[in-house]
Amino acid sequence: MKTVGITALIPPELIFACGKKPCDVNNFVPKSNLQPASKLCAWTAIWRDMILRKELPLDSLVVVAGGDCHNALVDGEKVALSGIPTFYFFYPFEKDVDYLQDQLDRLSRFLGGIQNPEMFERVSEIKKLGLDLDELRAQGKYPADKAFKIMVSFGDFKGDIDLFEKTLKDIQEEDVKYTKTVALLGVPPINCDFHEVLTSLGLHVVYDELPYEFVRLSGNSMDELAENYCDYTFARNIEFRLEFLKNELKKRNVDGVIHYTQFACHHLLEDDILRKNLDYPFLTIQGDLPGKIHRQVRSRLEAFSEMLNSV
Ligand code: SF4
Repeated sequence: MKTVGITALIPPELIFACGKKPCDVNNFVPKSNLQPASKLCAWTAIWRDMILRKELPLDSLVVVAGGDCHNALVDGEKVALSGIPTFYFFYPFEKDVDYLQDQLDRLSRFLGGIQNPEMFERVSEIKKLGLDLDELRAQGKYPADKAFKIMVSFGDFKGDIDLFEKTLKDIQEEDVKYTKTVALLGVPPINCDFHEVLTSLGLHVVYDELPYEFVRLSGNSMDELAENYCDYTFARNIEFRLEFLKNELKKRNVDGVIHYTQFACHHLLEDDILRKNLDYPFLTIQGDLPGKIHRQVRSRLEAFSEMLNSV
């Protein structure tokens, strides 16, 4: 089965339905030691260099070039120039279902057309197991670090849909000890131990913004995909995202918000808007290169945990 690299959220339903398997190239970044030759955001620079060095076994690449990440375009073009068939995908800024339908139709043609339509429903069913996991974690019955690792893999189902489904079906409730709940907003942290550090400080992440999008968006047909993925909050205008966030934070009873921002990512400019509009104790962390959390960042997380416990 041919492997399609994806640089951000692309409906895995469609890739599987086209008889290919997705591979989220970001999942190789947090544990990478690679020092990129030129970079803005380390996420895109590292997957770019890994692909150019042929360290990722891809047959083609789908670059989300607009509406979510705005840094991936040129790094994607560098990959395309190396000879790898590359498709550029653009999300609409408003809820423009026809526009997204057209993007999905084009992507389907790039992927060779739909061959296994039953995969739409299969993926949707597995995503329901992901929503169960999200709820279990939000209720404090499953460790947040383990839940994050699974939920962030809903972009590509780890390339093995049977094994991934089994992992989800085998999940059992676990006793979780924590003192405060937090929501983690923004792009996922580039540090491989971010969630583990929060757990060690007694902070239980009850909401992971982006992984939750990976899980909740789905559809059993091309029409449903276009309708539902139009509500991908990271690609929509900030008012839409804010309303969605307010609702989720209230529902999950969060005690505080941590906004992870990435060096040279346009999303970090949203920090002051989120601060002004979300009425919670708020900590902003900025990362750059992958690896373990820097000592200074750890100290700031410790201070935030102490502050929440003193309230
Ligand atoms: S952190 Fe920002 S710039 Fe970097 S890959 Fe993610 S969305 Fe793109």
